[in-house]
Amino acid sequence: MRPVKLIAACSMLVSLSAQAQTPPRPEATRCFLESYPGILCGFEDNELRFCDGARLLWDDGATKTHARMLESADLEDTLSQAYPTVPLSGVLPLDFEPGRIRNQAFLETVYRGSELALKAIAWPGSGRKLRVTTIAGVADELAKVAQGVTRLPASIRRAVAKIGGGYHPRVIAGTTRKSPHSYGIAVDVAMERAEYWRWRLLPTGLPRPMKGGVPPQVVELFEQHGFIWGGKWYRYDTMHFEYRPELLHPMCRCGPPDSCYPSFTQTFMTAENENDPGAQRVCLVKAWSEASRVADGGIF
Ligand SMILES: [Zn+2]
Repeated sequence: MRPVKLIAACSMLVSLSAQAQTPPRPEATRCFLESYPGILCGFEDNELRFCDGARLLWDDGATKTHARMLESADLEDTLSQAYPTVPLSGVLPLDFEPGRIRNQAFLETVYRGSELALKAIAWPGSGRKLRVTTIAGVADELAKVAQGVTRLPASIRRAVAKIGGGYHPRVIAGTTRKSPHSYGIAVDVAMERAEYWRWRLLPTGLPRPMKGGVPPQVVELFEQHGFIWGGKWYRYDTMHFEYRPELLHPMCRCGPPDSCYPSFTQTFMTAENENDPGAQRVCLVKAWSEASRVADGGIF
């Protein structure tokens, strides 16, 4: 299908779940291809090509609600919300949870055999280690995060010292979907301050605003090394960091200097401004033509 260039890109909060579909944009395949060198080798006929010959459908063309995307996302769906690399606070807009949409077949293909390729990385101040996979460079990147944490002030190190774990075969609570911990690509840290949306439901069934206890310096370190943070999700999970470098690729993330269109002026809903319709807007989709130009001028 022909790529459709988006010009403006903001949706009203209320229409978010209903409009959780995006135009096809094969430019975004670069975010995958350049994030998994040696594993992904190309894009052709609407399929990502793995270097070992495997293929995976890019865009199934289906229009999906957010709930449906969580259940059965194609690869393109997984990038339908741009992950913001700036600190956020307050209550995020309904269903805004970039990275929570995952393509199970992709994870199964990339991380096949993860359980045999685990490496334990010492986590500063915990006296313990986090086991993650060596596939796709996950363990190496986590080691760099850990090294970075040792250089942070003691108060910050203490705040994230208590760890949950890394590799752990299990399903996501309340679902039948495999947790990213099952592939060895996720770690839980800062357990002392952990906030998980299911633990903090209001009588209405909606999550309470999170307090956001993980220091932004630590979040930034993880993001610099390819890990997204579950604290930037409407259904938040503040202990959770997950290796998803495609979401942090300059063409696919939402963040400075100017990779978002028109400029990074997203306003997120907070307890203070929840009745202000002007504040209930969030840029969900990148303007791909603009982002490509900013990244390096190349669209293929
Ligand atoms: Zn986790």
